[in-house]
Order: sequence, then C-alpha cells, then structure tokens
Amino acid sequence: MTTFLGLPTAPPGVGHLRQEAPFPVAARQALGNSQLRANLRKATTTIRAKRAGVVSELPDWEQLRAAGQAIKARTMADLGRYLEQLEAQVTARGGTVHWARDAAEANQIVTRLVREAGAREVVKVKSLATDEIGLNDALAAEGITAHETDLAELIVQLGRDRPSHILVPAIHRNRAEIRDIFTREMPGVDPGLTDEPAALAEAARRYLRRKFLTAAVAVSGANFAVAETGTLCVVESEGNGRMCLTLPRTLITVMGIEKVIPAWTDLGVFLQLLPRSSTGERMNPYTSMWTGVTPGDGPQAFHLVLLDNGRTAVLADPAGRDALHCIRCSACLNVCPVYERTGGHAYGSVYPGPIGAVLSPQLTGIADNASLPFASTLCGACFDACPVKINIPEMLVHLRARHVDEDIRERGKPSAEAVTMAAASWVMADPARYAAAQAASRAGRLLRRRGRISALPPPLAAWTTARDAPVPPRQTFRQWWRTQHRNPPEDTP
Ligand code: SF4
Repeated sequence: MTTFLGLPTAPPGVGHLRQEAPFPVAARQALGNSQLRANLRKATTTIRAKRAGVVSELPDWEQLRAAGQAIKARTMADLGRYLEQLEAQVTARGGTVHWARDAAEANQIVTRLVREAGAREVVKVKSLATDEIGLNDALAAEGITAHETDLAELIVQLGRDRPSHILVPAIHRNRAEIRDIFTREMPGVDPGLTDEPAALAEAARRYLRRKFLTAAVAVSGANFAVAETGTLCVVESEGNGRMCLTLPRTLITVMGIEKVIPAWTDLGVFLQLLPRSSTGERMNPYTSMWTGVTPGDGPQAFHLVLLDNGRTAVLADPAGRDALHCIRCSACLNVCPVYERTGGHAYGSVYPGPIGAVLSPQLTGIADNASLPFASTLCGACFDACPVKINIPEMLVHLRARHVDEDIRERGKPSAEAVTMAAASWVMADPARYAAAQAASRAGRLLRRRGRISALPPPLAAWTTARDAPVPPRQTFRQWWRTQHRNPPEDTP
C-alpha cells in the first residue's frame, strides 16, 4: 500500500466532489438555459481577452510557465518533507497545525476550534477547500453561522445557490438577478436598490462591514504556503479577505496539502503567473501574507488545517498527479468550449471545467465521477492556457482508460463500447477486412434523407440522438485511387 508520511494513503475524498447526475444528463439540462449560456459567453470572452493582453506583455511568459511547472513537480516529489517543514515553521511562530485526512475530520476540527473560541458566527474568505468539505453546512448543523464575504460567494450564499466557477462563483448570474437576490435576502437592504454595479457593491459593503467588525473568528483558504518560513498567502481582489485575515481574534485556515511550495523565491514565480491567468491583471489588488502570530497585531490565535481528502491517492498515480499542480487560476475554464456552454453546475463538483474533469474523479475514485473525463472535446485549449503546463488532455485520456479498465474488472466482461472498439481495431488491422467494411458501410447511403443521416437503428441510435451521422461517399478512397491510377490524369502545366 502506498504510504504518505508513514501512514497508509487516505481513503477517497468526501464532500462536495461528486456528481449528482452524470455529466451528459446535467449538461443537457444546462444547455436548455439560454440566459446561463449568454452570461457565461459574455464573462468568459471578457476574461479571455484581458488575459491574452497581459500575458502577451511578458517576453518570458513561457519560461515562467516552465518554472511554475518545475517548482510544482519538485514539491510533489517530496511533499511529505515540505509539509513537515511547514508544520515546524508555523508552530515555531505561534500557530497550531492540524492534519485532516478527509472532509469530515476537517469539519470536526474547525467546528471544535470555533466552539473553543466561544463564537456562534464566523466570517469567511473565499475558499475552495472549505467549499470542497462542505464546511458551511457542517457549521450550521452545530448552530454556527458562516458568512461568506467575497462578493460572488455572498451572492451564491444568499441565493441558496452553488458556485459555478473557481474564480467567479456567481458567473452564471447577471446583475438583474443579483439585485433580486439582494433585495429578497439581504437584511436591511434598500428596497429601491438598482442593478448598477456600484450600487450592488455598496449594498454588499454595508452588509459585510457589520460582520467584519463583530466576528471573533475568521475562516480562510490559502493560495500558497511557504515551507521554509511558514508563511501563508491569500490573493484576492476586493479587500474583504484582508478584513477577514486581520480583524477577528482567531484565524483558521483550511488548506489542501498540495498548496505548499518550498521557498519564498518560488512565490515570486506564482505571483506573476496567477493574477495574469485568473483575472487578467498584472498584479492582484490584495496579496495578504502572514506567518504564525504577531503579538498585538492581527489574529492572536492561528490554526492551519492541512487537508488530504483524497490528495495522497492522486499523488500515488504518476500519470495523474500533475492535477495537484493546479493553482486554481481558472484559465482552463475560460477557454474550454464545453464549460462555456454548460457552465460549472453540470460538473457536479466544486471543481468544474477541465481541471475538475481530471481532479474530481481522482479525488473521489473514478467510479464516483465516471462521466467527467469524457466531458471534453480534447481540443487542447486548456493545456495551452494553463500557467503551470498541466497536460489536461493527456490526463483525460489516461483517466478514460483507467475507467474502462476498472469497468471491465468490475463487470467481469467488457462493455459494449470496449467490444466495438476491439472490433474496429480488428477490422482496421487488415487491409482486406478494412476494404470489406468500407464497401458494406456504403449501404448506409440508403438511410440518408435530404443529404443527412439523422436516425440510425439500434444500437447505433445513441449517436444520432444528438447529431447527424456522415453519409458514406459514393466511392471509397481506394476506389477513387484505383480509378486515378488506371487512367492517370494528364499533367497540368
Ligand atoms: S489546471 Fe491550470 S489553467 Fe486550470 S485552473 Fe489549474 S492552474 Fe489554472
């Protein structure tokens, strides 16, 4: 059995990582929502253009990407040592480190710490790790209210909704919808609130300022943790995170173990890659860093919860572990033609889009998210956009193969798809068989209607439920070739 820090590898991840419905079913539903598609197209087109502009300014962008990739690979190769170094440094500077094997354990730790601080409310910085473990629900079950303070997360929380994008959780909402949510759900809001962005931001500011000034405990995630110094880093755009990280007496940070980086100098690489790839900015407006506890300044108790939740299982697969290199910039979502049409909810996990299609099935075990590796056209746009050069298309193919192998093992017999592929392989391996199959396929011309084949008989009918099948040509390529060589055309001058 693979071990991690001397312990057996963690069990599959639990929490908000699983699909409720297979991707094709959820995607079909999402595709019927034209408002969603319009919101997504507008938002992703804008972010893509901004990103392309700031990336083109850097002559050494490709070298930066290579450096980011190399730092992540080096970290994963020695993850246990860097995590122990991080623990030692945080502890030496007055913080406390907790190890959580899965979502349930992380939730128990945070709930206990909030109770020990005597709080019934917490403020939160936007954090995918806490979304992953379902922290808000776990706290609510214990009578503790969590207030999201990132504007988009607040919109999602007040709308009793789910995030649909890593960076812009409310990307599926337009401003009229946000105004409706605020007037319906935000206590004390002006009933005449307009949908002007400045007015919406002002309403959120007034609501949140009261929470910041009264909360005794804050919960955050982390973008990076520097092992050599024990420094945590959060980057954000609104300043709400800075309020959370500095005003409450107790700060609890929940961080996936893959967020550690070895040295302070490595941070310089990622702080150039991340803002350009995520919001299309040269530098993000707020970069907060803290190291343990500083007497008389900021939170006087700091707890770091290091979350596994399936990550060590991902680490154990050399062909899949690069998914842990992700810095959650969301560039792959913004260029993905599948994501742009279906939005994030169809993926069923807090990690949507291309990175979600490779990360979620590995965190949970492929059987629990079996359709996600197939939620891609393999166009490669995600690989080109990724600032740490994660080869997502290659990983998708690897996960598809793993799924097929696991499926055959479990069922004790190959699926219809595997049988079809094996038959195709047999036919294509022999020229005579291939020629015979081509000749037979021309019978398909009988099924054409107005130049198209829109309905095939079972079991091929599944193909034509969503697309036309190509009409076989009158003549195969081999027949055409023979004709040409029997009566070679005269050379044209
Ligand atoms: S996989 Fe790459 S592009 Fe996608 S979110 Fe992660 S770092 Fe960004």
